[in-house]
Amino acid sequence: MKKIILSILCLGILYSCKNKVQEISDDTSIKIEKQEAKPTFGIVIHGGAGTIFKKNMTAEKEAAYKAKLEEAIRIGHTILKNGRTSMDAVQKTINVLENSPLFNAGKGAVFTNEERNELDASIMDGATLNAGAVAGVTIIKNPINLAREVMSNSPHVLLSGKGAEQFAKEKGIELVEPSYFYTENRMNSLKKVKEKIAMKQASEKTAVFYDADIKDSKFGTVGCVALDKQGNLAAGTSTGGMTNKKWNRIGDSPIIGAGTYANNATCAVSSTGWGEYFIRGMVAHDISALMEYKELSLQEAATLVIQKKLTALGGTGGIVAIDHEGNIAMEFNTAGMYRATMNANDELEIGIYKKANSK
Ligand code: ASP
Repeated sequence: MKKIILSILCLGILYSCKNKVQEISDDTSIKIEKQEAKPTFGIVIHGGAGTIFKKNMTAEKEAAYKAKLEEAIRIGHTILKNGRTSMDAVQKTINVLENSPLFNAGKGAVFTNEERNELDASIMDGATLNAGAVAGVTIIKNPINLAREVMSNSPHVLLSGKGAEQFAKEKGIELVEPSYFYTENRMNSLKKVKEKIAMKQASEKTAVFYDADIKDSKFGTVGCVALDKQGNLAAGTSTGGMTNKKWNRIGDSPIIGAGTYANNATCAVSSTGWGEYFIRGMVAHDISALMEYKELSLQEAATLVIQKKLTALGGTGGIVAIDHEGNIAMEFNTAGMYRATMNANDELEIGIYKKANSK
């Protein structure tokens, strides 16, 4: 009798185990089927994060920013919709933002302490982990194009200053006079920052660079991340850096892993904010690493890195990111971040300020 009961019990256990395996494998096959049946794509952009309050914004200014963000994202979205690569989408979208004086990249780059414009940019291909970057260039109309050229047609990842410009000349990249980057708006910002620093220096009697003042100013770097129909991710970032920077200072934007990162296994990220903190926090790569090694979702990883790690360091700014499934994140710890996203269903979302219910 005992033997019969034992046998029935064993059979029961075996049967329920088999069902479990069945359930899991069914579940997996459904997921795989879904992924295969629905090639998706998507794109997210930012135009900088910082102290952006609605009360300081005019209706015209807000409309101008939104219109330019929409124009840029539609360029990239059309490229993706037509089945072209995420690398093309990222580059062409960033070109639109670089050519606008509204953003701190290309035409609208901020001034250094010596009243020059020194531009940085980087781009990364998530399919190959290839990357290219340039820093401190002064005569390149679209630094993101030069970054891509470094990636595709040089044995290097990061070129700087005169050498980068020599490489640009050899490769036929579009050049401009340094005066192309002059805008009155940015010159006024430099003057204001210098005045504030002089006042602070006089009252505190210590050397002040740009810490407190930069916290007060808007940033304005541009970035783009995209997932194409082939499942390839790409990320790019372009900037004039920070107003009043000195000594050929280079920020996070041309630093792979800090300002830009893309890996098909995880996500693509572009950063904006106070660069020194993004370099120290390796922000873009950290988000990818949390997904890869800790299996966090993109949003969980982005929230942890921006709201906990970067904030604890004292850094300000944000990121836009997209993962290999098309999930997106637009996370920042500043009052605002110019941003937009568009998915495979043509749904467009544009934002500037912090959402009322966000942290
Ligand atoms: N991250 C840039 C830099 O530090 C600035 C910005 O994003 O606005 O150069």
